Amino acid sequence: MNQLLIATNNQGKLAEFQALLADLNIELFSPAQIALTLDILEDGATYAENAAKKALAFAAASGLTSLADDSGLEVDALGGAPGLYSARYGSPDSNKLSDGERRKYLLDKLSPFPRPWTARFHATIAIATPDRQFQITHGFCEGEIIPDERGTGGFGYDPIFLLPELGKTMAELSMDEKNRLSHRARAVMKAKAILQELFG
Ligand code: IMP
Repeated sequence: MNQLLIATNNQGKLAEFQALLADLNIELFSPAQIALTLDILEDGATYAENAAKKALAFAAASGLTSLADDSGLEVDALGGAPGLYSARYGSPDSNKLSDGERRKYLLDKLSPFPRPWTARFHATIAIATPDRQFQITHGFCEGEIIPDERGTGGFGYDPIFLLPELGKTMAELSMDEKNRLSHRARAVMKAKAILQELFG
């Protein structure tokens, strides 16, 4: 059976990728399942550079075709921040803030600006093969940051990211709903075509 390594240590993302790729005839592995520990420095200038760096490193270390993503939240009032730095926003030298503290940090930064605080999630996926080839896809999800947290699902900035047309935050969606319209779902949709071509 065809095999694919999901190159992420983020449990929230891993669960989403597993659900999104479940209908392909591909055996999915997490790094933990193959006892692979790799900590890749995300020092690229773009999401695509970071995603490709991760996917290539995991493919080389495992010998498996590997899928990695780099994603972020882009808030218009903050000129697109935190963007590439979404995971370490508020703590550039380390990864010390919890998701909740990071949401509060973002809301503090936004408080001087008038609402609506329009924003989007951006996901970039890289699929790399052990022979060092890679391909990239992107997905976007438009919404708005709100000042009060709502919902308990998802991870990261989900409780303060409102999808105005649904009147719900990302954290109020079921995993099925999130996986129909999220940035990652949209990037995965395009990645599936690449996987089908690679695996035949
Ligand atoms: P990275 O892609 O691992 O560098 O991390 C991206 C960061 O963006 C995450 O740690 C979250 O803070 C944020 N992020 C990316 N996708 C989502 C999402 O679906 N919901 C909430 N936050 C997200």
